[in-house]
Amino acid sequence: MIPYFDLKKYNQSFEPGLTEAVQDVVSSGRYLLDSAVGRFEQRYAEYIGTDHAVGCANGLDAITLILRGYMELGQIKPGDSVLAPANTFFATILAITRLGLNPVLVDADPATGQTDCSLLEKALTDKCRALLTVHLYGRCSYNEQMAEFVQKHNLLLIEDNAQAHGCMYKGHSTGSLGHAAAHSFYPSKNLGALGDGGAITTDNADLANVVRSLANYGSSAKYMFDYAGMNSRLDEIQAAVLSVKLSRLDEDTKKRREIADMYYSGIDNPLVTMFQKAAEGEHVYHIFPIFCAERERLQNFLAQQGIQTLIHYPVPPHRQTCYCSQKWAQVSMPVTERIHATELSLPLNPALDRSDISKIISAINSFK
Ligand SMILES: *Cc1c(COP(=O)(O)O)cnc(C)c1O
Repeated sequence: MIPYFDLKKYNQSFEPGLTEAVQDVVSSGRYLLDSAVGRFEQRYAEYIGTDHAVGCANGLDAITLILRGYMELGQIKPGDSVLAPANTFFATILAITRLGLNPVLVDADPATGQTDCSLLEKALTDKCRALLTVHLYGRCSYNEQMAEFVQKHNLLLIEDNAQAHGCMYKGHSTGSLGHAAAHSFYPSKNLGALGDGGAITTDNADLANVVRSLANYGSSAKYMFDYAGMNSRLDEIQAAVLSVKLSRLDEDTKKRREIADMYYSGIDNPLVTMFQKAAEGEHVYHIFPIFCAERERLQNFLAQQGIQTLIHYPVPPHRQTCYCSQKWAQVSMPVTERIHATELSLPLNPALDRSDISKIISAINSFK
């Protein structure tokens, strides 16, 4: 059996470091907002290349806190709109709608799955204050055209970097390309905790301060509340774990890229297509999607040969039941809808052996 991602095996490869890091926190007697969080925030800001990193409870909150932060700073108002990709994980859109903001969806480029930047001008309304771009699958969604668009219309550029830790664009990390970025450390993300975790990175000191306060009830000093905030803290155990795992992130990204290279050169079946290969450095392969009109039959065929695959994702956000009464959810996003109808994710993670990858490639190539 080749599991999609054997997290137990993967996390065991960090021992004894992980257990020691957890032990240190347990015996320190300090479990929230203390030195392990401070150390991780500093290391993570350095790694991403921003002045500030602020820990929080998860990736959904990280996006929410950035948007709330800009609302408190007066740069986004209740009822404003945010441009966002239709092809994304549900949480991206939920962060917008839970604040009473309005998502303006933009369809994907069929060659990459990322925002089709040629559609941005047409989607723009005078209510749009920000573009929330998602480096989906671990692939950089930012490009020159996006940069020009954002600058021309004076929009905030917010990155959802939940799937792309360690991804680069022309020498800069994703998470440092826009005005602020949200990160998730959900256990199976490329940088994953042993539970929930998230962070916000930015060069903007005002935003960093507001977000830090908002994540701690809106508190400025003990029992003084400047904002009606939320409770969204990164805890000491997760921060200590993340510091251990961050030290090996680049090495593990290299392994992910080697596996992706094997898939690109090995998969050869007229019934299966893949995205165009990303430029050097611009992909960290959180997910490796392939496309097949007969997805269910291919998934069952692979399962019979002991290969577990997943679907990212079966239904796009704008087609989810909870949004069925929203006006923006009625629009048609043909490329996104086709991606969701045909996508299948192959196992791709540092815990896999080369022999596993060869087996997966032969299995796909024998599918008729
Ligand atoms: C995982 C993920 C999130 C949410 O992160 P959580 O930590 O699970 O809240 C947001 N956006 C994208 C693209 C994700 O993949």
